[in-house]
Amino acid sequence: MRFRRAAAIVSLSLLFAGIHARGDEPLPIFDAHLHYSDDSWASLSSKAVLELLNQAGVTGALVSSTPDDGTLMLYQADPGRVVPELRPYRSQADMMTWYRDDKVLAYIENRVERNVYRGIGEFHLMDASQVDTPQMKRVVELAVERDILLHVHSGAAAVSALFATNPKVKILWAHAGLSAPPAVIGELLDRYPQLWTELSLRAEDIAPSGGLDPAWQALLLRHSDRFIIGTDTWAAWRWPLYVGLIQQHREWLRQLPNDVARKIAHRNAARLLGQ
Ligand SMILES: [Zn+2]
Repeated sequence: MRFRRAAAIVSLSLLFAGIHARGDEPLPIFDAHLHYSDDSWASLSSKAVLELLNQAGVTGALVSSTPDDGTLMLYQADPGRVVPELRPYRSQADMMTWYRDDKVLAYIENRVERNVYRGIGEFHLMDASQVDTPQMKRVVELAVERDILLHVHSGAAAVSALFATNPKVKILWAHAGLSAPPAVIGELLDRYPQLWTELSLRAEDIAPSGGLDPAWQALLLRHSDRFIIGTDTWAAWRWPLYVGLIQQHREWLRQLPNDVARKIAHRNAARLLGQ
């Protein structure tokens, strides 16, 4: 009985914390990991994607796609909300070899001339040795020259290798390393002031049974300026889940102090991407 009463008090205080964090409106969210790739185009128009973002209360999104045309379609449909980034993959086939392919590099160099992209990515690096190619060195240089970020899906060692190539580069670490534990993420954020992380696919690590994991909570508070929300619509079947994925993030965000929740929800992205 005593336990039940304690549980009721906890859920009541979470409820009030939620109201406090939201005010009357749901907390606006910037989603830093959207793809609108060719497998989604037939089932979901640009208009339908924007309608989903409306439903989810997503006020900005960093978008990439395979091929890049999907990104530009969505950008044209809502240039105020969509922040385009250039994915190096002309098709899925480029994913494993792009970092050492001269044709992909030429494609990137040509495409960035459009001047609309705020980043290059999301791209995959399987290990740190893949950073060590002439093509990758040029990609890092390009990002620094144009002051755009690299959106990198990799382990911690590849992030360090990219910063070793040029410490001025800005990196958005996809999925905060996907399986990297809070201690590893915290160490990298301590070491590299030009590193930001987005939290797609991490909601279940952050709040495994609904409540914030203590190590994650400490990390999110300590580096509250360096986290951004993400979902990752890497395949068409992710879209029907979209509103729920954003809602799942809101559930743990509302357990943080109001100012921290707002930073992670949208203010950090606004600062990083000038939104
Ligand atoms: Zn992705």
